[in-house]
Amino acid sequence: MRLGGFAGGTDPGRRRRRNEDSYVIDPPLFAVADGIGGAQAGEVASKLAAGAVKEHGADVESLVQEANRRVHQRSLEDPNMSGMGTTLTVAAVADGTISIGHVGDSRAYLVRDGNLEQLTEDHSLVGELMRTGKLSAEEAGSHPQRSMITRALGTDPNVDVDIFSVEPRVGDLFLLCSDGLTSMVDDREILRLIGEKRGDLKDLVKALIKAANKGGGEDNITVVAFEIGEASEAVSELEDTAVAPAPSAEPEPDEEDTLTEADRVPTVDTAVVSVGEIAAAYEREQEQAPAPRRGRRFLMRALSFLIVIALLFGVAYVILWGLAA
Ligand code: MN
Repeated sequence: MRLGGFAGGTDPGRRRRRNEDSYVIDPPLFAVADGIGGAQAGEVASKLAAGAVKEHGADVESLVQEANRRVHQRSLEDPNMSGMGTTLTVAAVADGTISIGHVGDSRAYLVRDGNLEQLTEDHSLVGELMRTGKLSAEEAGSHPQRSMITRALGTDPNVDVDIFSVEPRVGDLFLLCSDGLTSMVDDREILRLIGEKRGDLKDLVKALIKAANKGGGEDNITVVAFEIGEASEAVSELEDTAVAPAPSAEPEPDEEDTLTEADRVPTVDTAVVSVGEIAAAYEREQEQAPAPRRGRRFLMRALSFLIVIALLFGVAYVILWGLAA
């Protein structure tokens, strides 16, 4: 057995101005990273992690630790990057084994014998609530905090990494993806599309991204797929998938981070590079609370109150002075 074909693609989705996801196609290494942080920080975090994966040809554990160290270091050095983090799901194909390292809520799936098996556990609030039976899969899908992750790369000097390996078989298909796919497309639909597009992984990646956009495209979408072939099969050429922009999204005018059709930047992933380039930061919902504005409004109110009091005193003074005279 050996590595067969592979493909990858990323798309900002319909709602985010920026794309904070990154991916790596650098055989025998494959990875997906989904950055978190305000301004450009999320993009920087996922790219740093992806860069570390590319440059660090060691075992998966030390590779993820190195990625963590780089993101954490940068977040300490640069105040604009403070608090940033990223997910990282990486797969390393070696002789007779696929090693997987994982932190966050991106996912690795194995498609074998027509079944889709999620290999990774989501390190997310809803993932943990589901594992302890406190939340059903259906409730999780609409949970307001479904994007909150409980473990990320870069937030601490060391990170607890899930590491495991899978014994591959000829015909296996491995899928790495960010939550922008899995929050918009359910497992059944993913499996259906795999069945339909299995013959062409580039087409499959495009179809999955398209399905996520059709489902709402509320987050950046990244998909990496690779296959295990016969020993004699040639490895297909390294090729990233350019994904066409989704058919016209209806922008909601009151949403701050919404794209208009004119704003859309088509994903151009043509370079034979490993890291999905493109774009930067969306603020995750909880970062958008307009706290400073509220403070300013309070100050204005206090000032007008004082002015009214001063005026009242002035009027009273004039009246009393008039009476006394
Ligand atoms: Mn995401």
